[in-house]
Amino acid sequence: MHVRRLTTALAAAAVALSPILASPASFASAPSEGADRVADASLTMRDAELLRPVVPPTLRPSTSAPTVSARASRRPLFAFWGKKYNRIDGFGFQTAVRGSGTSIQLGVAWKTYRGVRPILPKKVFVQARVDGGSWAKVAGARGKIGKRGFVLAQVPAYVVPAGVPAQTVDYRLKTKKITSGPRKARRSVTSKPVSVRFDNQTMYTGDQARFYAPIANLCPNASVTLDTDHTIAEKRDAVFSFQYGIAIDVAEINAITWESEASKQAVAIHECAHWRQFYNWGGTLKGFDAMEKRSAEVFVADTNPDPNVPTPPNQPDWAPLEHAADCATFLATSGAERTYGGYCNPTENAAAGLLWQGQQY
Ligand SMILES: [Zn+2]
Repeated sequence: MHVRRLTTALAAAAVALSPILASPASFASAPSEGADRVADASLTMRDAELLRPVVPPTLRPSTSAPTVSARASRRPLFAFWGKKYNRIDGFGFQTAVRGSGTSIQLGVAWKTYRGVRPILPKKVFVQARVDGGSWAKVAGARGKIGKRGFVLAQVPAYVVPAGVPAQTVDYRLKTKKITSGPRKARRSVTSKPVSVRFDNQTMYTGDQARFYAPIANLCPNASVTLDTDHTIAEKRDAVFSFQYGIAIDVAEINAITWESEASKQAVAIHECAHWRQFYNWGGTLKGFDAMEKRSAEVFVADTNPDPNVPTPPNQPDWAPLEHAADCATFLATSGAERTYGGYCNPTENAAAGLLWQGQQY
């Protein structure tokens, strides 16, 4: 993963959510039916990270507030926003590629209404369907209705069956039907799905196998995607992408004919270190932000104290989290020729070593 790439990913996440903030039209176009219709007219969604909508004075609860019983009878029903606000691991994309054995966090925006808490379901389940099959409940997964506008569910790791190269699993949330209270509330609602393609790494062949081999023990659950049309890594030879996992532009890697094969494979190990930086911190955007802050405390732009051993100069895009991935790569290889520059001091080596033990530094 590279800083430029990250910025793009984060910007994309922000853009995906901005229509809620910027476009009142999204309220009007939000699905509404039957008893929801009145409530939807004054609908708003709260996301503390991004927005705190200001209620127009004319829409604030008036001094002639309805009585408690009248308010209760008019409480809106619980509902989900549409697909475009769904999140995978905290990001604003609705499709992703993951390796077999990886867990995802599913986030679905739910609707809140000014001044009125909707009739909340007691439980929210996760459902999955494999390769377009039937929806089935995912055991051990439960959605938590957060105050920030999202229902979040940590979905257990999915394992692709032996002999199957890849499967696409769709996930959605489904509320448990309410059995008491207003008749209109006695219903179950389902969210729009997200879609995750899980690779079976043991079935990799060709260049996928070539670049998975060096990380099979370090990041066994990571996926390797070949960036054949140069759209994921863009101007890089390889990246760790939040959406697509480890992505390798093989044509660019092969073009460097003077580099050893061990060093080429070390590129995958560097990206695998980024995979560890993401998943050792929980595999979510929130955890990633914490990791990035922590990286800046541990990994510094230092030089070798031994004047007889030259320190590679820092590259323009040197960053603490890149230095961490470099140090981790040096620990795991004897042939890494690529580096963002700098020297790995004993503290940095110890911290980088924790990545390979599945721990945070
Ligand atoms: Zn990197």
